[in-house]
Amino acid sequence: MRVAMIGAGYVGLVSGACFADFGHEVCCVDTDPAKIEALKRGEIPIFEPGLDDLVTKNVREGRLSFATDLAEHVHKAEAVFIAVGTPSRRGDGHADLSYVHQAARDIAAALSGYTVIVTKSTVPVGTGDEVERIIRDVRPDADFAVVSNPEFLREGAAITDFKRPDRIVIGTEDDRARMVMTEIYRPLYLNQSPLLVTSRRTAELTKYAANAFLATKITFINEIADLCEKVGANVQDVARGIGLDNRIGAKFLHAGPGYGGSCFPKDTLALIKTAQDYDAPVRIVESVAAVNDQRKRAMGRKIIAACGGSVRGKTIALLGLTFKPNTDDMRDAPSLSIVTTLEDAGAHVRAYDPEGMAFAKTLLPNVEYAQDAYACARGADALVIVTEWDIFRALDLGRMKAALASPVVVDLRNIYNPDDMERRGFTYVSVGRPDVTMDETQDA
Ligand code: NAD
Repeated sequence: MRVAMIGAGYVGLVSGACFADFGHEVCCVDTDPAKIEALKRGEIPIFEPGLDDLVTKNVREGRLSFATDLAEHVHKAEAVFIAVGTPSRRGDGHADLSYVHQAARDIAAALSGYTVIVTKSTVPVGTGDEVERIIRDVRPDADFAVVSNPEFLREGAAITDFKRPDRIVIGTEDDRARMVMTEIYRPLYLNQSPLLVTSRRTAELTKYAANAFLATKITFINEIADLCEKVGANVQDVARGIGLDNRIGAKFLHAGPGYGGSCFPKDTLALIKTAQDYDAPVRIVESVAAVNDQRKRAMGRKIIAACGGSVRGKTIALLGLTFKPNTDDMRDAPSLSIVTTLEDAGAHVRAYDPEGMAFAKTLLPNVEYAQDAYACARGADALVIVTEWDIFRALDLGRMKAALASPVVVDLRNIYNPDDMERRGFTYVSVGRPDVTMDETQDA
């Protein structure tokens, strides 16, 4: 099958490389010439484990290519995927569909023969109808179908998620389009990944419902963590206690600094706006978004409290800046709010992240960037674990303690053990777990 992938970002590049690996002939098209030139030179513009090898292999074997010329590749394609960004629209939180609409216009002009146009970008209900209208306006003669095929991959595990998805959702009522989509995904459902064929609007909404539900789970456990801190309970044990119930499930029950990233913040907001427009408000999701927003700043205040109530003139060392490990993605990362809160309170922030620093430098220009975790901690008044990269899970704590000016550790990901940290002489603060001082107070 000949496939054109419009947009070579996190989703387009991973999807394109995986489709090529299934045996399809794929061209990833992007309007960013620097990105395409880099890809042609064999450089991968994002950090995603395994992507480098997958791209190299499929380029070498002639199934994967890159281009800026959309028309040429759409003309040849049997299926054209739209995988462009749908960020929050400035000002109102609706999804900004300008990239999707532009892609639709460009695609329309180049169509030839029956073509399936597949929206892989996360788009509000009704976007498929609009894409269809745009294409029909530009090319009343074209033979095409517009399908929704939302993507559920997670950055950091994107290739595994794409190749072994929990499900594939295909929204179409067009039989020919369903056959094309089934052919594209055949290697996966032969592998027993469930393929759900729904109406286009159902598929579009399914993606938002999934992300809103996951964001709700995270926010729920974060609020339980706050309560745990007040009552002297342990959120990790509560999470295990509820997560072992199959009806609840253990995933997405890790208390932390609030969700961030390129999807949950913008997708919850877009769902809220759509629901308001249709006069069916999703009040739970509205609360989730508001609680999460406040939480990121609250984490900054938690760090300040751990430093004795003031960070003015102090150096705070942050480990991890990306919104989660194994990605270089800084979009809506909790670290952005945390750094701003600390800098506003007069702190000097030093940071280290294994992959996120290049992008972080453009967003956080006042931060001092360190070469590694120990250089980051040197002379600092507190160490804060913001992102749970594996290399931060087994730090040499003796060396870390010697590096710090004051042995204060704020662990926003609960990757260390409070008793152990206290035994080692740290003042240790984590999320939703009784700190040792509190236990002593209760014993007394
Ligand atoms: P991204 O910003 O990394 O990539 C988008 C790419 O599209 C950019 O390279 C941009 O230059 C290109 N582009 C924009 N307009 C174009 C046009 N007219 N023609 C060709 N290229 C164009 O975005 P992303 O993270 O890959 O997200 C893409 C979509 O997938 C979004 O709707 C997002 O919500 C959704 N999604 C993302 C993830 C994720 O983890 N990143 C997961 C699931 C779904």
